[in-house]
Amino acid sequence: MINNQALLDSSKNHLWLPFTQMTDYERDPLIIESGEGIILKDINGKEYLDGYSSLWLNVHGHRKKELDEAIKKQLELIAHSTLLGAANVPAIQLAEKLIEITPEKIRRVFYSDSGATSVEIAVKMAYQYWQNLGKERKKKFVTLSNNYHGDTIGAISIGNVDLFHRVYGSLMFESIKAPFPLVYRNPLKDEQEIRDCALSELRTIFHDHHDEIAAITVEPLMQGAGGMNVMPKGYLKGVEELCREFNILLIVDEVATGFGRTGKMFAVEHEDVQPDIMTAAKGITGGYLPIAVTLTTEEIYEAFYGEYEEMKTFFHGHSYTGNQLGCAVALANFKIYDEEKILEQAAKKAEFIKSELETLKHLAHVGDIRQAGLMCGIELVQNKDTGEAYPWIERIGYKATLEMRERGMLTRPLGDVMVFMPPLASTEEQIRKMVEIMADSIKAVTEKEKSAV
Ligand SMILES: *Cc1c(COP(=O)(O)O)cnc(C)c1O
Repeated sequence: MINNQALLDSSKNHLWLPFTQMTDYERDPLIIESGEGIILKDINGKEYLDGYSSLWLNVHGHRKKELDEAIKKQLELIAHSTLLGAANVPAIQLAEKLIEITPEKIRRVFYSDSGATSVEIAVKMAYQYWQNLGKERKKKFVTLSNNYHGDTIGAISIGNVDLFHRVYGSLMFESIKAPFPLVYRNPLKDEQEIRDCALSELRTIFHDHHDEIAAITVEPLMQGAGGMNVMPKGYLKGVEELCREFNILLIVDEVATGFGRTGKMFAVEHEDVQPDIMTAAKGITGGYLPIAVTLTTEEIYEAFYGEYEEMKTFFHGHSYTGNQLGCAVALANFKIYDEEKILEQAAKKAEFIKSELETLKHLAHVGDIRQAGLMCGIELVQNKDTGEAYPWIERIGYKATLEMRERGMLTRPLGDVMVFMPPLASTEEQIRKMVEIMADSIKAVTEKEKSAV
């Protein structure tokens, strides 16, 4: 038997949780013990709907039989051997599968173990690509305001979330910021106008600096941790066209949007975009094990190809790169995509979510609802008419998610934006229940705030 009190005390004494002020954890601790389908259970037996897919990872629910079995089967062969200078069976098979499902020009798979590492690798590849071609001035990166690409130094250098990145200013290399075409609160009311305005600013940057720009990084269709912001239609395609015109590499970060999250296998498919480098992670193993990939065109690969003495080798690798257990479960994951027609299902569920979220629209403090497939953000505001935000110190988003936890659903906010990102396997009934919990919780905390004023 686990002694709950001892476990709780031990967690407070020894753990340091990511992206967490530990006094928050001490006040409102949560220890998960098990999961089944889209339900998580804590050590006290309380159940929660997994409204954020265990931080945007989970696809088919927890303890999916086929995934559990794929790991057990692989364990009978080997858990891990290195990919440095040697291949392994599931890593090869998974690479083949990934090339089959990714955009046509993508031909090569480089493994790592988290979204941030896959981005770090993309940055180094793009940088070295131009060095290897003898274009030594092309060293800079362009990023969009509020982009998020992970938390390692390279990834934050091409990221732009002030709250997360401010303190590390002098540690980061400088990148060029271009405006993200934000729709909410934009004085321009027309989406096409907002798109064209952002593209024209990007064109100016490319025009003036293309001989020193290696690449631009974008989160396609939906900007995630920077606030769940949807790109206006045609923006992503516009970025691709500018990249081609000015000979700049297009790095597309599909870590959050990949594997059906936006209703298609990859978000770039919505606008028929062909990236030069693409990163993917979160959903790749169905949310089971840390596997990530940086995928490239053959053209990128060829710039590194040659005899050792030519010094073109990509000197980068991680201990657990290509881990067999992870690759085996990823393969089983994609088998389920085929067997259960996950993409078709996801597109249908996205429509259902859209209609359910309508019920939140009329709430007094819901300022905006943004959605791409099963990736949604609900922004809470003090004043719905003006879009005036709550004072950050009130932590209204955090309070709302604590209230949701109380009512049996888990998610994490991004500031005052509620994230709703349920596993693709969620049923309509579960989706409806989660939206109901969100509505009740938002009402409870925003109305409480009001009466306290
Ligand atoms: C989550 C995320 C990352 C970082 O992935 P980790 O596995 O947490 O390192 C990178 N890019 C995007 C778009 C993400 O959403």
